[in-house]
Amino acid sequence: MSIEIRDLNYTYAEGTPFESIALKNINWKIIEGEMWLLLGKTGSGKTTLIQNINGLLIPKNGEVIVDGLKTSDKNVNIKDIRKNVGIVFQYPENQFFLPTVLEEILYAPKNFGIEISKNELLEILKIVGLTPEFLTRNPFSLSGGEMRRVAIASVLAYNPKYIVFDEPTVGLDYNGRKKIWQIIENLRKAGKTIIIVTHWIDDLISFKPKVLHIQNREISFKGEFNDFIMLGEEELKKRSISLSEKLKLYYCSLKNNITLEKLFQY
Ligand code: ADP
Repeated sequence: MSIEIRDLNYTYAEGTPFESIALKNINWKIIEGEMWLLLGKTGSGKTTLIQNINGLLIPKNGEVIVDGLKTSDKNVNIKDIRKNVGIVFQYPENQFFLPTVLEEILYAPKNFGIEISKNELLEILKIVGLTPEFLTRNPFSLSGGEMRRVAIASVLAYNPKYIVFDEPTVGLDYNGRKKIWQIIENLRKAGKTIIIVTHWIDDLISFKPKVLHIQNREISFKGEFNDFIMLGEEELKKRSISLSEKLKLYYCSLKNNITLEKLFQY
């Protein structure tokens, strides 16, 4: 099973004076079980691409096929695609509007006509590291990290096979970020297909996700994480990526074919 994006072009307000080209010639195949890192500076087209993947936007030019269902096919119920591709949006807690954590978590599955059992709910809470006592709390009384975990739980509640995390750690402190990456790691181990949009490449070294980099609305790199880093400082700079000290060290270790641990022994 997979998500296949073929020759995708996307233009906002096409044919009007406000026409704006957001994506050009995108070809991308996400195979079940993979983890991808989607990179590109602001305005490069990442959000437009994500929204095309789960049928929030429908392409007029090119196609997006999720597990064999084409988003632009009039005979396809778009909900069947949307419940399979969950998106944890940037600052998802800004969209909370219900009085309890329980209601927030159950809102999306209810919309998809999915009922979850008490055991499934408890399992989801466990995955995101929250205790059942949280269910009766007001979402707005939680810490930033807890709110983010409730938002993740609300997506897990409809059990999507593919999950997109748009800047999942933005605005969180070190511990909050660590917890989110741990949840993502566990979801990966549980077999979920994961796409992460983030500027925190450092935090992803241990995941070694595949990388899709978009520049000027087109793909400028698609491939393995190590090959992306091995492009080197100059090439990455051309893609508006500056290597942190940690990534420079990682680059050194790859270039010299030694592990990071070994590198620190010198
Ligand atoms: P990113 O998520 O990488 O910041 P976006 O997909 O939001 O990129 O934007 C890609 C391009 O599409 C930008 O030039 C942006 O101005 C334009 N764009 C995004 N959303 C809209 C919209 N609703 N109407 C018109 N243009 C848009």
